[in-house]
Amino acid sequence: MKNRRIFLQKAGLSALALNLTPLKPLWALNDGKLMHVTEDKPLRVAIMGLGSYGTRVAQAMKDCKRAKLVGVISGTPSKVEAWQKEYNIPAKNCYNYDTYHQIKDNPDIDAVYVITPNGLHKEHTLGVAKAGKHVICEKPMAVNAKEGKEMVDACQAAGVQLLVGYRMHFEANTQEVIKMQMNGDFGKVLFFQGLSGFIIGDPTQWRLNYELSGGGAMMDIGIYSINGARYMIGEEPIWVTAQETKNDPVKFKEGVDETIQFQLGFPGGAVASCLSTYSMNNLDKFFLNGNKGFAEMQPSTGYGPIQGRTHKGPLSNPHVTHQTTQMDEMAAIILDGKKPLVPVDGVEGLRDLVIIDAIYQAVKTGEKVSLV
Ligand code: NAD
Repeated sequence: MKNRRIFLQKAGLSALALNLTPLKPLWALNDGKLMHVTEDKPLRVAIMGLGSYGTRVAQAMKDCKRAKLVGVISGTPSKVEAWQKEYNIPAKNCYNYDTYHQIKDNPDIDAVYVITPNGLHKEHTLGVAKAGKHVICEKPMAVNAKEGKEMVDACQAAGVQLLVGYRMHFEANTQEVIKMQMNGDFGKVLFFQGLSGFIIGDPTQWRLNYELSGGGAMMDIGIYSINGARYMIGEEPIWVTAQETKNDPVKFKEGVDETIQFQLGFPGGAVASCLSTYSMNNLDKFFLNGNKGFAEMQPSTGYGPIQGRTHKGPLSNPHVTHQTTQMDEMAAIILDGKKPLVPVDGVEGLRDLVIIDAIYQAVKTGEKVSLV
């Protein structure tokens, strides 16, 4: 690449003037053979769990430049067949939950995106790590911090990367607010409000089954307010208080939270006041207040477009499908070691789990729980 640049400079030409494609052809030795490769080699991903979010990710990946869907792991043969047709996936890259460990012998898959119910994330992540493949795991990374720590340790021991599907960390309007906060544009931040919730339907779904969900609204949607409070304020909380309201104990059984209000205290003096619920719609809002300005976003974490304004004016970055940007950026993190604006690694996922554990403890005890 450097040689090509020097050549172009010497020739007084630019890549633009020559109308070269963005691909950067290179020659490299691979197993003793001279291979034609490109610097922009894609991250070849298999999706595990072909449900509703897995389908959304797969559709979004059609527009990716650096990530490519090449494989599937599913317990349902009819889904595998349909995905093979839709995404042109060869049979040799298709696995089920009994066979996916064999993925270790498949050189055509770099990473597995775990998009199964929360309660299975640990088992599946450990399985993928053992097979020597990078893991992208959906949020919540696990159902408690103990599991999360095991996952971080297992991936580290296996020498693979563990990333968490925090798509908002790559969203342009969110990033604009985070950069403003990093630049001090809001001054001293003292308050954040995060409202995350929707009315959940079908009472038989896994999200309301403790074994598979690990909790209720907090695990599923409240985590957006926790994570948002952290990236909007730019600090790690030092204490938690929380209060639970349960109006429907039949639908929301023991361990499955319906509504929790929680507060997070930050070392700089800021407090986050948040609501997590499965019983109210139209709750997708962030508000950040500092002594020099503010940011408000609504919707703040839905699939977009994310809308909002700051004291400087409206947030007007164009909407790009979140999962397309996320997967391209994650490819750059895994393949090139790119550092994201806000981390998306296993340690980041673990931080949210530590806070969730503390919130549940605060609900149970009624006491302020220290995080330090
Ligand atoms: P879903 O029910 O639509 O899909 C889950 C998939 O897991 C299904 O294909 C199901 O067959 C499979 N599965 C494998 N083993 C299973 C078992 N033992 N029991 C039940 N299902 C099993 O759920 P979803 O909405 O796609 O959620 C999957 C994960 O993605 C969850 O962790 C969720 O929190 C996360 N998610 C993230 C976002 C986001 O914006 N980042 C959005 C939605 C869901």
